[in-house]
Amino acid sequence: MVKLMMLGFDGCSPEQVYKHADELPNLKRIMDAGGWGVNKSVVPPITPHAWTTIFSGKNPGTFGYWDFQYRSSYSYIEDQRATSMTCKEPRMHNILPPEGIKMGLVSVPLSSPPLYVSNGFCISDFMTATTKSNWIHPASMAQRVTDTCGDWIFDASTVDENFRKMEKGKLINRIKDMDVQRFKLFKEIHSEYDFLAMDCMGTDRMGHLFWSEFDPQHVRFRENSPFKDAYTDHLKFLDKNVGELFDKTGGPDKVNVVVLSDHNVQRLDGRININEWLISKGYMVLKEGAEKPTIQTSLAKLPIDWAKTTAWGTGYQGQIYLNVKGREKFGIVDPKDADSTLDQIVKELYQVPDNKGNAIKGSKITMRKDVYSGKYAHLAPDAFLFIGNGNWAINERVGYDSLYSYDTLLGQDDGIHGDDCTFMVAGPNVPRLGEITKESSLLDVAPTFLDILGVPIPSDFEGKSLIQK
Ligand SMILES: [Zn+2]
Repeated sequence: MVKLMMLGFDGCSPEQVYKHADELPNLKRIMDAGGWGVNKSVVPPITPHAWTTIFSGKNPGTFGYWDFQYRSSYSYIEDQRATSMTCKEPRMHNILPPEGIKMGLVSVPLSSPPLYVSNGFCISDFMTATTKSNWIHPASMAQRVTDTCGDWIFDASTVDENFRKMEKGKLINRIKDMDVQRFKLFKEIHSEYDFLAMDCMGTDRMGHLFWSEFDPQHVRFRENSPFKDAYTDHLKFLDKNVGELFDKTGGPDKVNVVVLSDHNVQRLDGRININEWLISKGYMVLKEGAEKPTIQTSLAKLPIDWAKTTAWGTGYQGQIYLNVKGREKFGIVDPKDADSTLDQIVKELYQVPDNKGNAIKGSKITMRKDVYSGKYAHLAPDAFLFIGNGNWAINERVGYDSLYSYDTLLGQDDGIHGDDCTFMVAGPNVPRLGEITKESSLLDVAPTFLDILGVPIPSDFEGKSLIQK
């Protein structure tokens, strides 16, 4: 019989879940029986390394990626893409003793290509396009999954259509069809495994596309939108599925359950075109004679004079790299001036107003040295941006003729990731905790899993079990 079920609701906003808890009776049952709270995400709060931290118990400096794209040397371009193979630190499927614990990993990032679970199986994550590619290990499990759930859906996007461009009614149905598969599978196999973990990508996608439908503060809010309840309706849909799963398993009286997210999604106010800004301030210099592009141009294609450039920016939430002498190929910042240069850039960034000229409040810029440690920390960006409580995203492209932009090249985006994560835990091995008010983060999740399963917590884990009062 299953000992622990992890129900991952990707990007699920604790603020929304707890606000609507009375309409979510099955999630409420977990909260009432055990504990609930808000974990801080990783820096920056983005899916690939957030889930790796959840499953490894370590910060991204130990495994070497801090976004989907990262660098593995002091290159100017983040030319590597994180996959399931990138992390060399032990994760749950390596840490748990295979002789005692049969494990099933169901589309939990990063698991593309599918991870080799010696006593169990793995279905790959949302980075997989279709079941025509390598999607499940062992392959012998494929037929059973397909017979139970139909052809596996990895993400809301289809081969032909990015979810950001999909008609919204169609998108809602697609997301439901995807998320329900995870529950169908758990209902079918729960008695055969000890630890089952799933990730429902729907909650993240709903946040990105439907935030403007219900939040009056959103720049795109329209009154009485036909989709005004779509986000909470999806939470109710998931809750109903949790209830049906509990009917099969006996619920938190019989089975330990963790519900969690890797970050939240919140209102997007706009994007700051970070490299446009660095150019305007003279921190980034284009090659002599080169015109600033008038069409959106990626960093890789920008004619940057690296020998005159102090810093560059990348990413979605935003990160700043300094061009340091003796480190980057054409570095110009003397290492002894690196801290003060970075401080100066950060100070000026805090002053950037919004696109209407008003001050942006609540920005929080984190220095890498304060949050990353380990083997790969030195390759990470020097600073991570979190502008206006994280409501402002970053665009690294140049060519807008403005410091501001909104949607991505992929299409509509009404939400952005924030650093609050949903966390609920209950079960026979979990005391009644109520609201967990002590500071907690994603680093605390792996030790919590092990504590629930009665497995010793490795000494190099960075967090602490959340089921200890
Ligand atoms: Zn997202």
